[in-house]
Amino acid sequence: KGPDPDLVAIAERLATVKHKILVLSGKGGVGKSTFSAQISYALAAMDFQVGLLDIDICGPSIPKMLGLEGQDIHQSNLGWSPVYVESNLGVMSIGFMLPDPDDAVIWRGPRKNGLIKQFLKDVYWGELDFLVVDAPPGTSDEHISIVQFLQATGIDGAIIVTTPQQVSLIDVRKEVSFCKKVGVPILGVVENMSGLCQPLTDFRFMKMSETGEHTDVTEAFIEFLKTKAPERLDLIAFTEIFDSSGGGAAKMCREMNVPFLGKVPMDPQLCKASEEGRSCFTDQKCGVSAPALRSIIEKL
Ligand code: ADP
Repeated sequence: KGPDPDLVAIAERLATVKHKILVLSGKGGVGKSTFSAQISYALAAMDFQVGLLDIDICGPSIPKMLGLEGQDIHQSNLGWSPVYVESNLGVMSIGFMLPDPDDAVIWRGPRKNGLIKQFLKDVYWGELDFLVVDAPPGTSDEHISIVQFLQATGIDGAIIVTTPQQVSLIDVRKEVSFCKKVGVPILGVVENMSGLCQPLTDFRFMKMSETGEHTDVTEAFIEFLKTKAPERLDLIAFTEIFDSSGGGAAKMCREMNVPFLGKVPMDPQLCKASEEGRSCFTDQKCGVSAPALRSIIEKL
């Protein structure tokens, strides 16, 4: 039996891609797509040629996070063309193929795998420094397929995104063991939403009565600070949202002997940038998340 023609076609198609990175998470909603979108922006800003492939078939959020909602894919004689945010940042997602963004994609494994294969075989990326693949959460059919397909051409490794609490980390352990079993190197684990972090002046301050009613006293409080301690106005407030008393992702990484890449705080401005399809790096307002993401990218 000769080599699988699909794998040969994928290897040929991706021969012009230098590095392939898979972004994984154990659970949904931990910030995997946000991370994939923002590292793609960051790499493109560093003048690399970047492709972002969204294979989260049931919940493709990448088009929105890159400001590309409602865009269509075009076909040329070279294959499917990605949608370009900038000349060096191309995006491909099933989100571009759905006639109505509210439509549910109810597909079984084989059909999903077929589409992933087609994405890898038929998308014409041209020369790329990085292909970032945003995978669905968990370790399902699609993961086995993407790994098998990418291994045909060499895969640099996976980045796993998690939140700090045990319920999330339990699933990350499965993700780590999946990577070890299928032979995908783990580039590292990112702990996202490690506490809420924002300038003090962005908070609303409330006074709660005995009956549980809230009165907004923000203006009075800020005025008080301005007169009594103006040097405190530029403080950044930080609070843990998710319990990290178990040591968070850093401890899990030590135990499982995988690299820990760093923490990204919960930053309302990062959420806003994602909603509006913007890079957090060109936006001064993402002052607490952008430096954290940048230092993670530097470690890769
Ligand atoms: P996943 O891909 O893991 O399902 P998403 O990337 O879609 O998760 O993120 C879920 C939501 O959380 C999105 O609305 C996103 O904007 C928001 N989010 C992710 N990371 C952060 C963060 N560090 N600070 C604030 N909001 C975040």
